[in-house]
Parts: sequence; C-alpha cells; structure tokens
Amino acid sequence: MTTRARRAIGGPLALLLLAADPHWAGAQTGGTVRPQARPDRVSTADLTTWVGEFRMRALAAGIDAATFERALSDVRRLPDVIRRDRSQTEFTKTIWDYLDAAVSELRVSNGRRAIERHRDALIAIEDRYGVPKEIVAAIWGLESSYGAFRGDIPTLSALATLAADSRRGAFFEEQLLAALRILQDGETTPAAMRGSWAGAMGHTQFMPASYLEHAVDFDGDGRRDIWGDAPLDALASAAAYLAANGWTKGQPWGVEVILPDGFDYRLTGERVEKVPSDWAALGVRSATGGALPEGGPASIRVPAGHEGAAFLTFANFRVLEAYNTADAYVIGVGHLADRLAGAPPLASGWPRGDRALTHGERIELQERLRAAGFDPLKIDARIGPDTLDAIQRWQQAEGLVPDGYVDPDLLDRLRSR
Ligand code: CA
Repeated sequence: MTTRARRAIGGPLALLLLAADPHWAGAQTGGTVRPQARPDRVSTADLTTWVGEFRMRALAAGIDAATFERALSDVRRLPDVIRRDRSQTEFTKTIWDYLDAAVSELRVSNGRRAIERHRDALIAIEDRYGVPKEIVAAIWGLESSYGAFRGDIPTLSALATLAADSRRGAFFEEQLLAALRILQDGETTPAAMRGSWAGAMGHTQFMPASYLEHAVDFDGDGRRDIWGDAPLDALASAAAYLAANGWTKGQPWGVEVILPDGFDYRLTGERVEKVPSDWAALGVRSATGGALPEGGPASIRVPAGHEGAAFLTFANFRVLEAYNTADAYVIGVGHLADRLAGAPPLASGWPRGDRALTHGERIELQERLRAAGFDPLKIDARIGPDTLDAIQRWQQAEGLVPDGYVDPDLLDRLRSR
C-alpha cells in the first residue's frame, strides 16, 4: 500500500496477521508490532465528540460539509471492532496452520472454478498488468474466499471507532478521510461501503487510501466498484496495485527447493541473494525436479527452519509483501497460485509438534538475545531481518543450525544460558 500502514484483517480465515499491506491494520504470523492493550475508553459520547472535532479537520482537508453529514451523521461506535482489534495481541499461528487453511483443497478447487468463471477477464487483466491470473485469483481467494466473504461491517463506523480509539488513531483517521473522498467522488454510497472490521473493503480487501491510489474501473462502467458482486474491478485493482509496487512480468514469486546436506544456513534469509545458477552450484535443487527457474537474484527462506520446507524467492516475493509483509501470507498466495495452475502440494513437511511463540515470548526472546550480545536492534516482538540475523548469529555461536527458526526450544535454550 502507498502508506505501508499496518492493518487488521477481518477476513474469512479470521487470520490475525500483523502486516503492512493495503488492507490489514492488524497483527501477524511470525511477529507483530502490538502496543499494550489498554482499557476500552471510547464511549458513544466520546465518539460524538470526536466526530465533531474530526469534522473541522475533514473540511480543512477538502471534504465538503454535505458529504461529511451524509457519511457520518449516523455513524456509530462498534464495540466489537475495538474488541477484535485488542484481541489480536497474543494470537499467532504457525505457518503450517496458516497454510492448511489458506491453501486447503476446498480453496484450491473453488479457485480453479473461479478462474474458469472469469477466465477472459483474468487473462485481460494479466495482459494489462503483467500479473498472472493465478496470483490475482490467489489474492482474491485469501482475502475474501473469491468474493464469498467480503465483510458486512459498515466501514465508516468501523473506521470512526478505530480513529477515535487513539492507539492507532492517526492511521485510521487517514483511512476515514480517504473513505470520505471516495464518497465525495461518487464512487459508492455510505450504505454500500462495507467490509472487514478494520476497514478493508471488497473482493480484494482494499483500505480506502489504497483504493484512492490504485483502484481501477476495469469493466468501463465509469465507477471503480470493488464492493459489488461483480469482481472485475477489484481483481484488476489488485493487479494494478502489484504492478505499481514493481511486479516483474514473467518472474516467479518463488519455488520450493530442497537444500543439500551440510548446507550453510547462514545463507538463508532475505539479505543473501544469488542468481539461481549460483544456488544450484551450492546444491540447491527444485523440489519438483528440473532446473531452478530463472528470475534474477533470489533468496532462500526457511520459515520453519531446517526441519521445514525451503523456498527460493525472487523479487516478486517482495512485491507481494506490499499486500501483507508476513512470510506466511506471501507463501500462501504464491503456493495457492501454483496449486491453481496445477502444481502439486508442497513436497516437504513441517515441524508440526512445535507451537508459535506468544507476543510476550517474542519480546523476551529479543531481550535475551540483546543481553547475550546478539542485538536484534528493536524489541518489538517482530521476527524481522534484524532479529533473524541476531538469532542466526547466536545459533552459530552456540553450535546450533543457524536457520533463524523461532520456537519454544530456542527460547528455552536462551533462558538456560
Ligand atoms: Ca467499473
């Protein structure tokens, strides 16, 4: 998304992934940035007061009074939105639990049917934006189960509730302003503007600010309609969004690989890039046989360490992160797209006995790494590149496989140091 802001999903999987992408404002697999929860203190009276104050700012930002009244005269506080926003703090999924749901056989079969139903349009979208129809369909499948669950929460009330709640108020106020511009532009009506509890709308769950910048009128009826039953505008908008973020036509997102015995796991992670032929020279091979695909510089990612599946990922992986920064989400999109194109399930398994660390445990992990002299730079519960690097260096120093994999055993080892 343009603002790279954080979002929350209220999507069909009820996945609580913390990410930076066009529609999620919330928390996420593998690491979240979650401020401490605080008491719910936005009462109905507070919201009315807040709307009065916001009106001045909105009018100063170019929203006309009539649009403001039409949009917000009967806006109401949604306690469930606050509850869901707060409840994300501790919850994380392992990547295998995520992928089991994200790339279920039902989602694969429904996706293949959806592609058949909209084949001509998806091909036209691919021709225009360079994004494969299976990638667009996979995003559609993950965001709204191919349009079946677009969300029916009134977007204006959801955004006003979250904006008045000061925890991430500035972000949601920006989104609410964008929603008002959408209405002022006549793109849709307040009643039709519905979506997730966090303000993501339509088939591909766009936040209002991303809509303003990236949504397109693909069917040519003069409106950019991502809310209605017809999905074409939303699908084209998702493709346009990826194209604007640098999607490279013809380049894979990634491919599952098998790493050789004795592989140096310090070479895993997004900071190490080599062309596929150099990886092949190190013994990296495709999990399905045949040569590694071409596609320029690529990294090896092992989201569950050396006991789980490995992926060779290309620059388009980073483009998909614009939708959601979680590795699990991007691998989910990529693998679902592969399955929609006829590929088999992943060849490698996962360490399914392990559980994900809680938010508090990830904070503790980072603090203990820092105390041990392997500084993750930020104590934010997020297992990003800096934390990954610190873990790998610590593992190396301890004589462990330096794969950066975070599980309770790793934390126990740090505690017992
Ligand atoms: Ca249209």
